[in-house]
Amino acid sequence: MLGPTLLRASRSPRMRNAVESYRLTRKLATRFVAGETTDDAIAAASALHRSGRATTIDVLGEDVTDLASARQTRDAYVELLYRLHEAAAAAPSEVSLKLTAVGQQLPRNGEDVALQHAREICTAADAVGCRVTLDMEDHTTVDSTLAIGAELRRTFPLVGNVLQANLRRTVDDLAALASSGARIRLVKGAYREPREVAFPRKIQVDEAYRDGITTLMGSRCYPMIATHDPVMLNEARARAERAGRGPTDWEVQMLYGVGRQTQEGIIASGGRVRVYIPFGTDWYGYFMRRLAERPANVAFFLRALVKGQTSPTRPPSRSDTCGPVAIGSQMYR
Ligand SMILES: Cc1cc2nc3c(=O)[nH]c(=O)nc-3n(C[C@H](O)[C@H](O)[C@H](O)COP(=O)(O)OP(=O)(O)OC[C@H]3O[C@@H](n4cnc5c(N)ncnc54)[C@H](O)[C@@H]3O)c2cc1C
Repeated sequence: MLGPTLLRASRSPRMRNAVESYRLTRKLATRFVAGETTDDAIAAASALHRSGRATTIDVLGEDVTDLASARQTRDAYVELLYRLHEAAAAAPSEVSLKLTAVGQQLPRNGEDVALQHAREICTAADAVGCRVTLDMEDHTTVDSTLAIGAELRRTFPLVGNVLQANLRRTVDDLAALASSGARIRLVKGAYREPREVAFPRKIQVDEAYRDGITTLMGSRCYPMIATHDPVMLNEARARAERAGRGPTDWEVQMLYGVGRQTQEGIIASGGRVRVYIPFGTDWYGYFMRRLAERPANVAFFLRALVKGQTSPTRPPSRSDTCGPVAIGSQMYR
């Protein structure tokens, strides 16, 4: 029950004000967010690159309702891309972009504005040798995000899209995209959705995710398997092998602050890992979705609040491990 409540709260302006204005919650958010500035993001990315991980960087922000903010987000991405280039960190990086942060839901011509801004970001990315993946947001944005992805790929063939296994429509979207050869990130889905459009039970979502892995591995696409779930990671490895894919013909993606030891195991066995690094001041919605995903995160959060703890120590449990994962012939924990 807690998950849906937190997902509802992630869209509440009142909750946002309360959580954002509290210094301690800002500190706790750093478990999942690299920091507030471009420098913070580049430092986090460089450290991950040194450890053999690739990265995808997200300028936090979503649901922008005015053109000035949409332009600001575009400018922040362009600055990030050039700064990555200066830091010689562009090649192992890509950027992840939420189209609602660059205008998709503006009341006037939102889709055109978002496409134009995304195009400008892709142009900057192309100039520095970086790729762009369009994050997927709630189900009302899916048609528009897939259409914008397809349009961008006409000029920038490596633009990626994300598909969410929890949505009933995804089986068709996957089939349609599978023949395109696009870069596809498969996720379980982080948004609270009505049951008419989404599977209500976790077991159904897991089943759909498993089917999605099979479709992707057997397709011409570049699969980006974004999950911390050891069952799904093992499934992906097995399906990749069956489809004749080598360890670098697909990649695992995980969120900053989650699954560090699992990532190390995958890299040690020759697999590819990319870490999703969010940064910026607009961290509230992202942070609440991470809490909603895992009850242990909420317990940690509440405990820290009660104690008035001021350092963002990690939860004592298995937050950094996701269970045993076999990549290659070994089992990793
Ligand atoms: C790189 C990346 C990009 C993503 N992009 C999108 C996107 O564009 N759109 C979208 O809707 N969703 C996105 N997501 C989020 C995704 O939809 C899921 O909500 C999230 O990945 C949790 O699901 P799971 O696959 O890890 O499996 P689950 O079944 O939720 O979790 C499996 C196990 O992973 C660990 N785990 C999962 N989440 C956490 C957490 N927050 N903290 C600590 N441990 C955790 C736990 O051990 C858990 O038992 C993205 C996820 C990743 C990794």
